[in-house]
Amino acid sequence: MKNKEEMLFSADETKFREALREFLEREDAKKIEQEIYERDFYPRELYEKLGEEGFLAPVLPIEYGGRGKLVYEEILAEELGAACVPLAWIHSTSSYAYATIARYGSEDQKKRYLPAMKRGAKIGAIAITEPEAGSDVMRIETRAELKGDEYAISGEKRNITNGSRADVLLVWAITNPEVDPAVGMSVFIVEPGAEGFEVVKDYKLLGGFPGTVNSHLRFDGMSVSEADMLGGPKEGAKIIFDELSVERALYAAMLVGEAGPVLELAVGYSKEREQFGTSISRFEGISFKIADMVTKLEAAKLMVYHTARLIDAGFDAEKESAMSKLLASEAFYEVAHNTVQILGGRGLSDEYPAEWAFRMARLSMIPAGTNEIMRFIVQREVYKEHKGKKGR
Ligand SMILES: Cc1cc2nc3c(=O)[nH]c(=O)nc-3n(C[C@H](O)[C@H](O)[C@H](O)COP(=O)(O)OP(=O)(O)OC[C@H]3O[C@@H](n4cnc5c(N)ncnc54)[C@H](O)[C@@H]3O)c2cc1C
Repeated sequence: MKNKEEMLFSADETKFREALREFLEREDAKKIEQEIYERDFYPRELYEKLGEEGFLAPVLPIEYGGRGKLVYEEILAEELGAACVPLAWIHSTSSYAYATIARYGSEDQKKRYLPAMKRGAKIGAIAITEPEAGSDVMRIETRAELKGDEYAISGEKRNITNGSRADVLLVWAITNPEVDPAVGMSVFIVEPGAEGFEVVKDYKLLGGFPGTVNSHLRFDGMSVSEADMLGGPKEGAKIIFDELSVERALYAAMLVGEAGPVLELAVGYSKEREQFGTSISRFEGISFKIADMVTKLEAAKLMVYHTARLIDAGFDAEKESAMSKLLASEAFYEVAHNTVQILGGRGLSDEYPAEWAFRMARLSMIPAGTNEIMRFIVQREVYKEHKGKKGR
């Protein structure tokens, strides 16, 4: 008989999760996370070890050493989120990049990039956002101009997670300004460092965002070959929306993972802490908070894995991935917010991870599309589905 958690997963998926947990414990990932908060470093070595042990990129097709299913990649994102948040953030952007290359890349591109990304030897990042184009991704201004058989990329990208550290960047640019961006946009696989590429600045976000940077990048005529275009010249917009669905599902899985240990802390602390001669867990003001936290987090987790199953089965899951990201970030925020409250004054000190989790949870409502945009997508899809039906 499976336990309750295993009801959701196949035996092989559970085996993958257990092996991963064992690895992260053996490597003391939680302790490394703590060290990163104390002296902000980048856990690239541990990321490479994950690759060496074969845990990275399970979403890749079997012929590239993967398991061909997003659900495994979500398990990986969730477990990394629970064990070591900065490590999870390296995995997050890298996974968005390799999943997209696997889906749209030519055989030559897949051979050139996927094995090294799977080993963890190369990390990836996604460059969509620009100073003047955030939520409205169709308004990007970065241009890629064809000169002979090379494209020259010019423009700026902002808010790119690990952008200055990535070995493989997916860069969206307008290739045909004469037509609507829906058909005039393309995406390129770019290896940073060549002439015309500049890191303008690495930002530290809310509370420092330890172990991660958020980069502002500039391209000034950087040359990329025609062979580095991912998909066709008119496919940039289609690939953005496809990439964002996968990104949101994976991002939400990471947030569910991040919230888990915070919830554990709240439950454990509330049992131990006594006031008015009894454990504070006996006060409904505390225990009902725990009930809400668990309920919302479990709902988010179910949505996250439901989305992966839909994508794995070939469905368009734009609505479900938006709901996953919305639910997971709001559940994480509620868990972190209530944990600070349950820990009282200690919750605000750096003696406990609650205050840091609170900052990360607040941050989580903006990347991968803001929560307003998630609500916009969900209602748009609902009204689309309702089209042709009668009202009251
Ligand atoms: C930690 C972090 C990591 C990120 N990583 C990456 C990355 O790796 N790659 C990448 O390309 N980008 C990345 N981003 C960028 C992120 O995707 C954008 O910040 C986000 O899409 C919002 O864009 P903006 O910040 O320009 O805000 P804006 O689009 O300017 O929005 C400002 C406000 O207006 C609201 N708003 C805008 N349009 C609407 C609307 N139609 N309806 C209702 N409200 C609306 C927004 O919700 C928001 O509250 C990252 C951002 C963060 C914070």
